[in-house]
Amino acid sequence: HEHANTTALEALPLRDNLRGQSPYGAPQLEVQHLLNTNENTHPVPQRVADAIGTAVHEAAASLNRYPDREFTELRQRLAAYVGHGLTQDNIWAANGSNEVLQQVLQAFGGPGRRVLSFPPTYSMYPLLASGTNTEYISGLRGADFTLTPNSAAQQVKETQPDIVFLCSPNNPTGTALGLDVVEAVYEAGQEFNTMVVVDEAYEEFSLDGTQSALTLLPGRERLIISRTMSKAFALAGARLGYLATSPQVTDALRLVRLPYHLSAITQAAANAALKHVDVLLGTVDEIKSQRDRIVDELQQMGLSPAVSDSNFVFFGWFEDAHAVWQGLLDRGVLIRDVGIPHHLRVTAGTAEETTAFLVALREVIAA
Ligand code: PMP
Repeated sequence: HEHANTTALEALPLRDNLRGQSPYGAPQLEVQHLLNTNENTHPVPQRVADAIGTAVHEAAASLNRYPDREFTELRQRLAAYVGHGLTQDNIWAANGSNEVLQQVLQAFGGPGRRVLSFPPTYSMYPLLASGTNTEYISGLRGADFTLTPNSAAQQVKETQPDIVFLCSPNNPTGTALGLDVVEAVYEAGQEFNTMVVVDEAYEEFSLDGTQSALTLLPGRERLIISRTMSKAFALAGARLGYLATSPQVTDALRLVRLPYHLSAITQAAANAALKHVDVLLGTVDEIKSQRDRIVDELQQMGLSPAVSDSNFVFFGWFEDAHAVWQGLLDRGVLIRDVGIPHHLRVTAGTAEETTAFLVALREVIAA
């Protein structure tokens, strides 16, 4: 596939730390049920799609000019959405939270610097690290994939990272971290001036009682909470990620962003969407109930789903997880083999998709 011409690639003067690496490559296949990339599988509600269409249409006539480099209206709308007393000065945005995270690495990572994270976690972190020539350090979790405040703080002290990436709810396991972990990591990183990023891409799907790290921002100027419109907002195709942090950090990110990185079309689409937050988030409760249904039914099947604060479920145990993945694909259901032995991950979508997944899984297990 991507590597058809490996020899020719190796002949290029590619940076050493990119040699032999594979690009991010969740399969994009034409399958009836696409439950592999944790998108919101519900289409954008028609009236929001219409509002986006109108806004983009209006923006089109001015495409001869560069867009607002400061995306001021968008930062105001995002600040209003995240609340917690934050203003536009606390908000930054880019083309997906992937780009937001890359900019954090460009500003605070780079050659001679290191980022600590705790696998299994979001697979883009090591790729963003190598893309910016930042050393990636794999921290350790407990056998059940949990991370305690003490263990996390100890690992920060040992590795003295420039940046820590915490993912909460964590992809691929789905479980949120306690705020005590975030506090302990920030505290342990004080003496090294460590930047602490909490990637809350899936925060809107959290279980009752799970708290956002936004509550920890006051007094912690090196804390960054990353969010996205790709998941709960059902706008993965629009490419809009953002973060909340101190104004000093957003000033640092201005040094590395490309001029006009958010196109006029992206800004128009995101602003129009943010006028309809309630409609856009209208599917979240239904997705959470499908998520809980998947957890219940997998338990009844004798499997072990992880606690999920997200719109996906991580589950095992299979002798040969890849064979189960293939069996599901043969039945028109694409889920994710995240490369963790004996485990798979499925996105919670509509009731029909959940049913299709569960029916197919029962068949595969019985086969
Ligand atoms: N963080 C996590 C944990 C994710 O799972 C994803 C998407 N898979 C992202 C960030 C990036 O999403 P986007 O660039 O679409 O905002």
